[in-house]
Amino acid sequence: MLKNEDEHRKDIVEICRRTYKQGWIAASDGNVSVRLPRNRVLTTPTKLHKGFITERDLVIIDMDGKPISGKYGPSSEIMMHLECYKMRPEIEAVVHAHPTYCVAFSLAGVTLAKCMLPEVVFSLGSIPTASYSTPTTEEVPQSIQEYVKDFDAIILERHGSLTIGKTVFDAYNLLERIEHVAQITHAARQLGDLNPLSQEQIGKLKKVGENLGLPPRKILQRCQSCKACPSGKLASLQQSDSTSTCSSQGSPKSEASPQPTPTTIPNPSDQLMNIIVEEIVKELTNS
Ligand SMILES: [Zn+2]
Repeated sequence: MLKNEDEHRKDIVEICRRTYKQGWIAASDGNVSVRLPRNRVLTTPTKLHKGFITERDLVIIDMDGKPISGKYGPSSEIMMHLECYKMRPEIEAVVHAHPTYCVAFSLAGVTLAKCMLPEVVFSLGSIPTASYSTPTTEEVPQSIQEYVKDFDAIILERHGSLTIGKTVFDAYNLLERIEHVAQITHAARQLGDLNPLSQEQIGKLKKVGENLGLPPRKILQRCQSCKACPSGKLASLQQSDSTSTCSSQGSPKSEASPQPTPTTIPNPSDQLMNIIVEEIVKELTNS
């Protein structure tokens, strides 16, 4: 059943508190919004501490960002939310935060776009990083345009995260998931080299997802330039129709012209892979 405005207000405040409690925003950072009927959007106000806002502090704006009601103005980052609503008519909520590990990886120039964890392939596909844009300017909505159509979770370089969903809880859950991926990736990097899933393993996961009726998730064919490859070596994943490459240097923008020296990435055993897939299928079918 569709929620009314009061219920959306409660949900937004709840998500702000959860995000603050997790340490993924500080003080007035971050913003949350929900699409309302008649081309209006309910969102968090500018400048107020998101861990302590109340339902009455929220603002209603139109699709151009113009305030309609509320005693405060909307966040200067609201244009990024509006871009999501314009480009994805089916989504109803947007959450922007500054999750610690996601932002730290982007500062280090390490992308999370590579497919490391089976459950991420199922639920998100790749996690792309939108190139740096000057906060509060038109550059921010422009920087996400190339990814919003295909991805529900995007890292904003040197800034934070953007997650979208049918509900504000869906968008928050994706935030939780990508920060968890970043934490696991960070822990694994302390232990040694990381090997992404092979194209064959990704193909199998996509098939399982299809059979479960999950929406198709896009996998970036060319991984973004990153430092996630084994010890800074260059890697190449063989694909049926193209080759994706990963270089150890440079920003995501330079991905079109890498000069890779291909090496084969060793795969985890098929047996282990099958166990992981079975576990995920169990989890998804039980939820
Ligand atoms: Zn921000």
